[in-house]
Order: sequence, then C-alpha cells, then structure tokens
Amino acid sequence: MTRKTALVIGSGLGGLALAIRLQTGGFDVTILEKRDKPGGRAYVYEDAGFIFDAGPTVITDPSCLEDLFTAAGRRLSDYVELLPVSPFYRLSWEDGSTFDYVNDQDSLDQQIKALSPADVQGYRRFLTYSQRVFRTGYLELGHVPFLNFRDMVRVAPQLVRLESYRSVYALVSRFIEDPRLRQAFSFHSLLVGGNPFSTSAIYALIHALERQWGIFFPRGGTGSMVSGMVRLFEDIGGRIRLSSPVARIEIEGGRATGVTTRDGERMTADVVASNADVVHTYATLMGSHERGRREGARLAGKRFSNSLFVIYFGLLGERPDLAHHTVLFGPRYRELIREVFAGPGLAEDFSLYLHAPCVTDPSLAPQGCSAFYVLSPVPHLGAAPIDWAVEGPKYRDRILDAVEARCIPNLRRDLVTCRIFTPEDFKTELNAHLGTAFAMEPTLTQSAWFRPHNRDDQISGLYLVGAGTHPGAGIPGVVGSARATAALMLADAGLPVVPGASAPRDAAA
Ligand SMILES: Cc1cc2nc3c(=O)[nH]c(=O)nc-3n(C[C@H](O)[C@H](O)[C@H](O)COP(=O)(O)OP(=O)(O)OC[C@H]3O[C@@H](n4cnc5c(N)ncnc54)[C@H](O)[C@@H]3O)c2cc1C
Repeated sequence: MTRKTALVIGSGLGGLALAIRLQTGGFDVTILEKRDKPGGRAYVYEDAGFIFDAGPTVITDPSCLEDLFTAAGRRLSDYVELLPVSPFYRLSWEDGSTFDYVNDQDSLDQQIKALSPADVQGYRRFLTYSQRVFRTGYLELGHVPFLNFRDMVRVAPQLVRLESYRSVYALVSRFIEDPRLRQAFSFHSLLVGGNPFSTSAIYALIHALERQWGIFFPRGGTGSMVSGMVRLFEDIGGRIRLSSPVARIEIEGGRATGVTTRDGERMTADVVASNADVVHTYATLMGSHERGRREGARLAGKRFSNSLFVIYFGLLGERPDLAHHTVLFGPRYRELIREVFAGPGLAEDFSLYLHAPCVTDPSLAPQGCSAFYVLSPVPHLGAAPIDWAVEGPKYRDRILDAVEARCIPNLRRDLVTCRIFTPEDFKTELNAHLGTAFAMEPTLTQSAWFRPHNRDDQISGLYLVGAGTHPGAGIPGVVGSARATAALMLADAGLPVVPGASAPRDAAA
C-alpha cells in the first residue's frame, strides 16, 4: 500500500516533533525549512569557535521528549544526553540579595526564610496549588486538541475551581508577601511569552512542572537536541529540505493539496501542516485564498507576546562561579513588564536572563573560554516601532555594561565575539508576526479552544503545529502541540494513533 504524503512547513521543535510522529505513524513526510539550519528559534550560531544556542536553554519535562522517541521505537538517550542543571536558576536583585532556585525543599525553605520567614508556609500552599494546576492543565489537557467550543465548556468548571481567571502574579501574591519572592515565583510565565500580571494563573503550573522533573541541558547544547531529532527523523525515513522557504499553500476545492516554494517548485501532498507563525501561515502563505485573508486578519487583531533582544557573546577565561541560568531583576517589575508588553518605547531599565552554558558543558567554547547569551524582554514591533538598526548597538552596550557591573567583571576586556538578535530579526528570519518571540500572548481568552486550532476549521488536509496553536510556546508546549496535531492527522487519515499520542475527542474531519 502506498503511504500517504505529508508536507511540514518549518523545522522548529514543534515541526520536527510532528514530522517524527507522522513518519512513525505511516506518512511519508518532507519538512521544508526556510533557513539554512533546522530548529527555528532553537537555531545555532557558531562564531570564532564558540557555539551559541539561539533560543531555548531551559529544558523542562524530558518525559515529553522521551515519549516522542519511544513512539518512534527509539531511545532518547541514544540521540541526546540530557544533563541535570542545579540550581535551576539563580535569581539576583539589585539590593544584593540572591535566591538559588533548587529542587530541594530544605534548601528552598531556608532561603525563603532568609528573605521572609512568614512566606515559608505560604510557599507550601503555593506549591500545592501549582501541583493541582499542573495535573489538570498539563498532564490532562496539555496535549489534547481543543476543536469545539464544547471541549472548552467541558473543562470550564475545572478552570473556575483552579481560579484560572486570576493572573499568575495575583495568585502568587495570595500566598507570598515578600516582593522578591513574588517575582521569584511569578516570572515563569515570561518564559512562554506570558505577562505574569495578565496571564492566567494556570501558568503557575510551570513551577510544579520544574519541580516534578527538574531542569536539563543537552550535552553539546540545545542544538544537539535539534540535530538528534533531525537524525531520528531521517533514520525513520523522513526528508528535510533546508533553505526552502514556502511561498504558498495550495488549496483546491476546499482542500490543501500541497505548496509552492519561493523558487517556484510545486510540491503536492495528501496533507499539509504549518509550523510557521500562524499569522504568516494564513495572511501570507494562504493570502491568495479567502480563508487565508479572513483568518489572517482575524488573528492579526489578537494580543501578541513580547519580543526579546538577545546578545550572544564569547569571552576569554572561564567563569565557574556563575550559575548556568541567572535572572538579574532590575529596579522595577510590574511597571517594566507593562512597558515590555504595551510599549510605547524601550524602557531605560531592564531585567535580564543570563545563560552561561559552559558551567554545565565547557565544550561550547574553545578551551579556556566561555560562551554566553543575555536576553532582555522588549516590546514587539507593533507595541514599539523601534528602529533596531539604530537602537540595537546602543542597547547592546547598555546591557553588557550592566552584566559587567553585576556579575561578569572584565567582560569588555575579555570579549572575543558578540552578535545580537532583535525583534526585527524575529520578523525577517523567522517570519514572526510583529517580531514576537512566543506567538500569541497566552491569556485565558487566547488559550485552548480560543487559540488557533491544531486543524483548520474550513480547509481539509490543513493542520497547524507549534507555539501559535494549543497549548502554546515553550518546548513542552510545542512538543505537546505536535502530539495533539499528529493524533488528529493520523486519525483523519484512518491510520492508528501511535503510542504516546492521545486520541483526540473529535478526530473525524
Ligand atoms: C531567545 C528564546 C529563548 C527561549 N527559551 C526557552 C527555554 O529556555 N525553554 C523553553 O521551553 N522555551 C524557550 N523558548 C520558547 C521556545 O523556543 C519556542 O516556543 C519554540 O522553540 C517554538 O517552536 P515552534 O515549533 O513554534 O517553531 P519555531 O521555532 O517558531 O520555528 C518555526 C520554523 O518555521 C520556519 N518558517 C517560517 N516561515 C516559513 C516558510 N514560509 N517556509 C518554510 N519555513 C518557514 C522558520 O524558519 C522556523 O524554523 C525560547 C524562545 C526564545 C526566542
């Protein structure tokens, strides 16, 4: 029997995970990737012997990756080695206080007590809450497609019981008094593009998720996880074409029939799945079709997550005293985050995330050197139309000065290589609408059924996967979305759903 064919547009982690599940399940899959390397936001730069992971560095829920490899009949550990990271994060404030966020209750209790004795009990109650949301929001619903409003109605009582109408920050503040600890336990939604002051308290589940499995970093960097996924995909017969931007999704008689690449090649397939930005998918790739124009315009009216300004830099010398992940909180929290999400410009101050991977794996830099990146959340291009060609180098210098003053002495003296990635690059390199880093903002009214569905409602044979769909951004999110989308595609094609892929509630197209 000839196998059905599938085209996947984009090789982000969601696109790769979907392609692996489809290839395993009986499709012949080809991935078409715009850029010269796979991984999307998990791209890799190599400068002067330094290896820089462009994007994700905090690997949570290794079980979602293990499930993916197991579903393909392989073992994750044969393709990539995940190294545990501790502390998960070092949090640092301008008043000199620090908090090593670890997976050890005694140590957490002692550190909380040192900052605010009254919050030790409050933290326990917060953890219990976070674990409840984790069970419902992640384990039960994180990989199940929401195609009908009734799916949403069905889970509504649970969402109300979990107080999902509150914000992450409001919820944390119910349990915890100290302003630094409120930051420590609410900043996580920023990791998936959510404003802690408006994102649903459901996202407090990230805390329980981290405590459940820990935090990991792949040996060789996140890039080695991407190459491990590509190797698995090719080992099971999949094909990936790099430097192959898709210009158009072909639709005939209400059905997706293939794509046309930018160099004019027409490729047909039984089904098409897009891992590209959802607005780009509808407004550009389907812009010549009524459905694309309408849905593209509707989605463009949604609220989008912030963008990021990232500096990748390599230094002479090793910095063993640093933690792998450090959050450097600035003088303002609520006000800064408001400006990051709403603009209208670039704030004078910043809060930074510093990535120091050589602490875990020195092979990412030449001997005796160390690789880093530092990122600052910034508004997307719609909230603040900044000319990044002008402002980028100035902003870079301000940030490097701050990092030198706070945690890397002699940074300027030891600088070997440095490159930046701005919201403008998210737009041009990744086709991200408004240059956002995490697609649509994960508010309650833009989550689950309210998020673009894993299968298009009108065009048959057309599917979506990745940060713009349910459940959303972040590695567990996009790998979960691949599981949801794959289950739909296999069921729609009459193929058995592979192990580890939950059967959708409504599989029939
Ligand atoms: C700097 C940064 C740090 C992050 N840190 C973390 C972290 O520590 N932990 C975590 O879990 N998450 C993190 N995230 C979020 C996470 O990286 C993303 O949510 C996730 O990787 C997005 O995956 P995706 O499947 O949506 O695809 P994307 O990575 O968005 O990839 C989409 C792909 O589609 C391609 N494409 C677009 N248009 C076309 C076209 N027309 N034709 C062909 N190809 C096309 C793009 O080139 C790209 O390769 C981070 C994100 C960023 C930006």
